[in-house]
Amino acid sequence: MITAERKPMAEIRAMLAPYRKILVVGCGSCVAECASGGEKEVGLLASALRMDAKIEGRTIEVREMTIDRQCVYEFIDQLTGIADRYEIILSLGCGAGVQAVAEVFPKMLVIPALNTTFIGETKEPGLWVENCRACGDCKLGYFAAVCPVTRCAKGLFNGPCGGSKNGVCEVDPDSPCAWQLIIERLENAGRSDLLEAIYPPADWSRQQGKGPKKIVREDQRSEG
Ligand code: SF4
Ligand code: SF4
Repeated sequence: MITAERKPMAEIRAMLAPYRKILVVGCGSCVAECASGGEKEVGLLASALRMDAKIEGRTIEVREMTIDRQCVYEFIDQLTGIADRYEIILSLGCGAGVQAVAEVFPKMLVIPALNTTFIGETKEPGLWVENCRACGDCKLGYFAAVCPVTRCAKGLFNGPCGGSKNGVCEVDPDSPCAWQLIIERLENAGRSDLLEAIYPPADWSRQQGKGPKKIVREDQRSEG
């Protein structure tokens, strides 16, 4: 999932300061799972904005809406006929969601309430951990489903740095050594042979320096 954290209230207040009619839009997918942009968080943020206005003696109108996915136009269409009644949309989607909403309503100002942080997994309630940097050339098949790009602090592809102690990374004492995990899992699976291969550095040209990445699937385009 994409994870995100709410921006500081001072920043949100400053961006909204010129506006009185605000549509607050949540997303029911990734950011709901990481408790930053779902229906509950929309309600809390909208209440905070109303309380601010009341304390300052300002009149504002704040409407709350949460759609299933802010990055898919079909879901964003649920805002049609509603969005244009407001001066601004405060989006609690990830960066992709904010921009997709702005694509659908190009005459409206859409601003983010969240800082999008990383692709990761829910480890336990209240703890999300990054596990993929979308490098565009997934190597998990060689590394026992432990991403060395993300989970090794040094991004090593050809064995550990030698600094781990008791299975813990020397750089980040809160994280297990990715290479300890890779070696243990490959041994358990009887595939230590994969450790013999030499892996070239990640090809970051797949990821950077060419503008936005695109996936084009003609089979999907022809459907519907
Ligand atoms: S190798 Fe790591 S960063 Fe690259 S796609 Fe796979 S999980 Fe993501
Ligand atoms: S201790 Fe392990 S995870 Fe940390 S940098 Fe070294 S090899 Fe990578």
